[in-house]
Amino acid sequence: MSRNQELRALKAQAQAIKDQLRSVSARIRHLQGRRHSAMVAFVDSYKCAGCGLCQQVCPTFAISIDRVATVNAQRCVGCGRCVAACPRGAISLQQVLGHVGSTSIADNERES
Ligand code: SF4
Ligand code: SF4
Repeated sequence: MSRNQELRALKAQAQAIKDQLRSVSARIRHLQGRRHSAMVAFVDSYKCAGCGLCQQVCPTFAISIDRVATVNAQRCVGCGRCVAACPRGAISLQQVLGHVGSTSIADNERES
C-alpha cells in the first residue's frame, strides 16, 4: 500500500470513528432526556419499498419494518443516517414541536 493510499484509508477510518462517536453521544443524550435535536425522521410510506437499508444504519434502533419503514420518534436522534441510506428518497428529517410517537406520512394522513 502506498503512503497516499494508507493516508486515505486512515482518514476514512477516522471519519467512521467520528460518526460512531457522534451517534453514541447522541444516544446517551437522548437516554438522559436531553434531545440534542428537534429533528426527527419521517418516512413517506408511498415511496418506501421496505428494503430495510435505513434500519441497518440507524444507531438507535429507531426504525422497524412492516411492509414499509416506521420511525419510533422517541428513539430517533435526528442523525440523518437513514436519509442518506434510503435509495428512494423516502425519508426526510423534519422539525418536531412537542410529542411525536411514530412517524410516517401515510399514518399522519390517515389520522387527519
Ligand atoms: S431505505 Fe428507504 S425504501 Fe428502504 S425501507 Fe428505509 S425508507 Fe423504505
Ligand atoms: S435520523 Fe434516522 S438513522 Fe438517525 S436516529 Fe433517526 S431514524 Fe435512526
